Amino acid sequence: MSLDLPPSGCSTAPVLKERGQREVFCGLTGIIWLHRKMQDAFFLVVGSRTCAHLLQSAAGVMIFAEPRFGTAILEEKDLAGLADANAELDREVARLLARRPDIRQLFLVGSCPSEVIKLDLSRAAERLNGMHAPHVRVYNYSGSGIETTFTQGEDACLAAMVPTLPATQAAELLVVGALPDVVEDQCLALLSALGVGPVRMLPARRAADLPAVGPNTRYILTQPFLADTAVALDRRGGTRITAPFPFGEEGTTLWLQAVADAFGVPQARFDSVTAAPRARARKAVAAHSATLAGKSVFFFPDSQLEIPLARFLARECGMRPLEVGSPFLHRALMENELALLPAGPIISEGQDVDRQLDRHAGLSPDLTVCGLGLANPLEARGFATKWAIELVFTPVHFYEQAGDLAALFSRPLRRRAILEQGVTA
Ligand code: SF4
Repeated sequence: MSLDLPPSGCSTAPVLKERGQREVFCGLTGIIWLHRKMQDAFFLVVGSRTCAHLLQSAAGVMIFAEPRFGTAILEEKDLAGLADANAELDREVARLLARRPDIRQLFLVGSCPSEVIKLDLSRAAERLNGMHAPHVRVYNYSGSGIETTFTQGEDACLAAMVPTLPATQAAELLVVGALPDVVEDQCLALLSALGVGPVRMLPARRAADLPAVGPNTRYILTQPFLADTAVALDRRGGTRITAPFPFGEEGTTLWLQAVADAFGVPQARFDSVTAAPRARARKAVAAHSATLAGKSVFFFPDSQLEIPLARFLARECGMRPLEVGSPFLHRALMENELALLPAGPIISEGQDVDRQLDRHAGLSPDLTVCGLGLANPLEARGFATKWAIELVFTPVHFYEQAGDLAALFSRPLRRRAILEQGVTA
């Protein structure tokens, strides 16, 4: 099988660009899945009580052991510039690292308050590295809602790591994006069966396994929101393997095929390795297609997964995307996806929420994919909704998760149908 993309799709579709009010979580949200992935990392948000509450309420349910994230809370006197926030930060970090010798990577995460008072966290990270390296490597990035939407937090985190990765001349594959461990293991098993290797992961589960990067590194993204990380890897000499993203049977097959082509895997081997999981994925998706086929779907911009997911829903589940909104549209990362997405939907970038709500009301879709802030009011108006954030928290990549991915969209439609039956009965 070869990467045979149709010439049409949405490649040349006009993009509606909007720059108004947006309803999206901030980049701090990424800490919730990143801290689970990097098992010896600690994320220290330099922020306010609001930031602490966001993290606690979003991730609190998972805290059974000592958490690996926290908030250094800037008090009013810090915001007024009366205290030396840097000295306090150094003291808090020293206390934390003394208490938690298991921490090998420390991320100072900027927030709205630290942006507002212009606390220079890159200099703080440099200073703290001087104090705590080599046992602990200190990085910094911004998760501020002023600057980032929620999946950009992961992009900023990984992009901050890339310049410090060791150099190598080795010809390796680097798979980029935080995947749940079970999904990462499936991905590695498929690549190993194809004979592709050595394979490294970014992020790695532990600091000791961090990849090296250099001119013979070929890398491939698993998430469509890693634009800055891709730029940082290009700067280090890496070459990106372009492909659709591994959502659904088709996306996964094309993603693996792009890697296989880059590493010279014989087609017969590719076909025999992928045949059984492809069949399983098709069957699992088909179980939900009866609910999804012919239904319309509207994506508000949220996770940057919108275009690949619209492609999956249109091509594998028979849905009709009406509008596909994305906070950002990185053409270089999306070209394969746009080529596959059947022509028809409005493609929009950014948000002007009131205008978009008007378009949404006019189109009256069967299913709406949106953030938490919009979901409840839309449900109250009778729309079936899917929370975009679930798509990031749930394992949805590669073959074995294709059925679960389709289920995320079929469930709200089934629930709405049951509710409507109850009302009319
Ligand atoms: S970073 Fe900004 S948007 Fe995010 S929780 Fe803190 S104050 Fe709110």
